[in-house]
Amino acid sequence: MDVRRRMAPPPAVGAPHRKAAGAPRALQAGDALPLPIRHTNLIFSALFAVSLAYLMRRWRAKIRSSIPFHVVSLTEILATFVLVASLIYLLSFFGIAFVQSIVSSTDEDDDFLVASSSSSSAKAPAPAPAPPAQCGLLGSADAVSEKMPEEDEEIVAGVVAGKIPSYVLETKLGDCRRAAGLRREALRRITGRQIEGLPLDGFDYTSILGQCCELPVGYVQLPVGIAGPLLLDGQRFYVPMATTEGCLVASTNRGCKAIAESGGASSVVLRDAMTRAPVARFPTALQAAQLKAFLEDPANFDTLSVVFNRSSRFGRLQTVQCAMAGRNIYMRFSCSTGDAMGMNMISKGVQNVLDYLQDDFPDMDVISISGNFCSDKKSAAVNWIEGRGKSVVCEAVIKEEIVRKVLKTNVQSLVELNVIKNLAGSAVAGALGGFNAHASNIVSAIFIATGQDPAQNVESSQCITMLEAVNDGRDLHISVTMPSIEVGTVGGGTQLASQSACLDLLGVKGANRESPGTNARILATVVAGGVLAGELSLLSALAAGQLVKSHMKYNRSSRDMSKAASLSLTP
Ligand code: ADP
Repeated sequence: MDVRRRMAPPPAVGAPHRKAAGAPRALQAGDALPLPIRHTNLIFSALFAVSLAYLMRRWRAKIRSSIPFHVVSLTEILATFVLVASLIYLLSFFGIAFVQSIVSSTDEDDDFLVASSSSSSAKAPAPAPAPPAQCGLLGSADAVSEKMPEEDEEIVAGVVAGKIPSYVLETKLGDCRRAAGLRREALRRITGRQIEGLPLDGFDYTSILGQCCELPVGYVQLPVGIAGPLLLDGQRFYVPMATTEGCLVASTNRGCKAIAESGGASSVVLRDAMTRAPVARFPTALQAAQLKAFLEDPANFDTLSVVFNRSSRFGRLQTVQCAMAGRNIYMRFSCSTGDAMGMNMISKGVQNVLDYLQDDFPDMDVISISGNFCSDKKSAAVNWIEGRGKSVVCEAVIKEEIVRKVLKTNVQSLVELNVIKNLAGSAVAGALGGFNAHASNIVSAIFIATGQDPAQNVESSQCITMLEAVNDGRDLHISVTMPSIEVGTVGGGTQLASQSACLDLLGVKGANRESPGTNARILATVVAGGVLAGELSLLSALAAGQLVKSHMKYNRSSRDMSKAASLSLTP
C-alpha cells in the first residue's frame, strides 16, 4: 500500500557547522549566530534561569508588601521579555527532538541505525570500528582525511551510541545534505564498511524529504539508455530506460526500429481508473450484504460520488464493486485521478465515503483502508480481469521485409513461437497475466527512469502478447494488451530532477493543464509501446536462435572480474 506522506521542509534550527571539504553546504539559521550552538544554548539556559529566579523573587516581595501584580517596573518588564525569549529558544531547540524521541520510542524498528547499533552489541560481534577522528563524511576518498567539526563528531557519536535517533537529523539540523552525511558516517562506524561506491554528493536530499525516502545515506546510480524513436500514434518518442540488464535497451531499440519502418504502432486506452478496496466487518453476513446492495445500487451512486469527490479536484468516482468473504465486505472503489498515479488521492476519497457510511451502517467495523481486493503490488486476478490504472492495447503491423531484414526471422516462426511459448507455455505454468515474453523488463526500466513506483511493476507488467499473420499471411500483426499500467506524471518520485527530466524527454512532465490526465495516459501508452517493441525483438531473437549470442555480446562484461575485484580492494 502506498503510504507517501508530505512534510514541509524542516525548520532551520541547525548548529553552526564548518564547511566540509568539497561539500557545498546550504546556509542555515544557526550560521547567523555569533557563537557556537553549545555556547548559545548555555547562555539562553542561564538567561532563563536568572530571569525566572528574579521574577519569582519580585513576585514574593509583592505578595509580602501587598503591591498589586500589574504594577511593574522596567526591570521586571525586561526580565519577563528575557524569560519568554529564552523559553521560546529552548523549546524550539530541545522540544522537537524531545517530542520525536517520545514518538520514536513506540516504534524502535523505525530507526535502523539505533536498532542495529544496540542489537549488534547484544547479538553479534562488534564490527571493526572505523577510525573516529579521521572520518570521511563525503563518501569520497579525499574526504576520509577531512576532520569533522567537533559538533558533527558529537552528533555522529550520539547516533552510534543510540542516544540520538537517526531519523531526527533532518529536523534537528535543518540541512538534509548534512543529515545524510552524518547518518552515513554513523553507519560507517557501526558497520565498519566504507560504502565508498555509494555517492553522497550530487543529490538534492531536500527533494525526497517526507515524500520519497527516509533515512537517506546516499543514492544508487543507474544508467539510463534511450530506445527509439518509438513511432506511436503518429508521435516519435525517445524512451528512457533505467536498467543494468545488457541487451535490453538495444533489443527494445531494434523493436522500435521495426515498428517505425513498418509505419508505426497505435494504441487505445480502454479504461483509466485507480482502485482501492477497504475491508469492513459486520456482525453478520446479512448486514454486510445490505451494504453491498447499497453501494452497488445505481440510485446511490450520485450521493457516493459527491462524498468521494470532495477529496480532490482530480479524483472522480467511477464505480464501486463489492466482494464478500463471510461477514467481511471488500469494497473496490475505482476513480479517475488526473495525471497522478492516484493511490493517495483515492485513499482520501475512500476514507470520506467510509466516514459517511458509518452513520447509516453503525455496525460496520472498518478493518483496513486496504483489504487487498484493490489489489496493489500483488499478483491478482482482479487487476488482470477488471484492470487497474490504465488499461491499454497497443498494436502494429510489421511488414514481411522488415521481419526479415530488421528482425532476422519470418512471420510464421514468430506466430508459432508466440502460441507455444507465450500462450501455451504460460498456461502450462499457470500464469496470471504473464502471457508475454518479458513485459516486466520494459515496464520496470521505464518505471525507474520516470519516477514511477517500481513495486507496481507486479501488476503493471500483466500483459498478453498476440501475434497473427495478416495480409494473406505475409505481414505480422502484433499486439500487447495490458490492463493494469499504473503510472502518473505528478506526485511521488516523478518530481525528482532525473526522473522529471526523463518525463520531459517524453513530453509528459507534470500536470497537463488543458486536459488533466492526458500526460499520464500518454505515458501509459508509451509503456505499452515499449513493451510491444520489446516483445517483438525478444521473440524474434528467440525465433532466430540469436538470444544467447547477443547476450554473450552485451550482457557479459569483458573485464576480468577477478582483476576488477582486486583493484577495488586497493586503497
Ligand atoms: P498519488 O495520488 O499518485 O499518490 P499525489 O497525491 O502524490 O498522487 O499527487 C497528486 C497531487 O497533485 C494532488 O495534490 C493533486 O491535487 C495535484 N495535481 C495537480 N495537477 C494534477 C493533475 N493534472 N492530475 C492529478 N493531480 C494533480
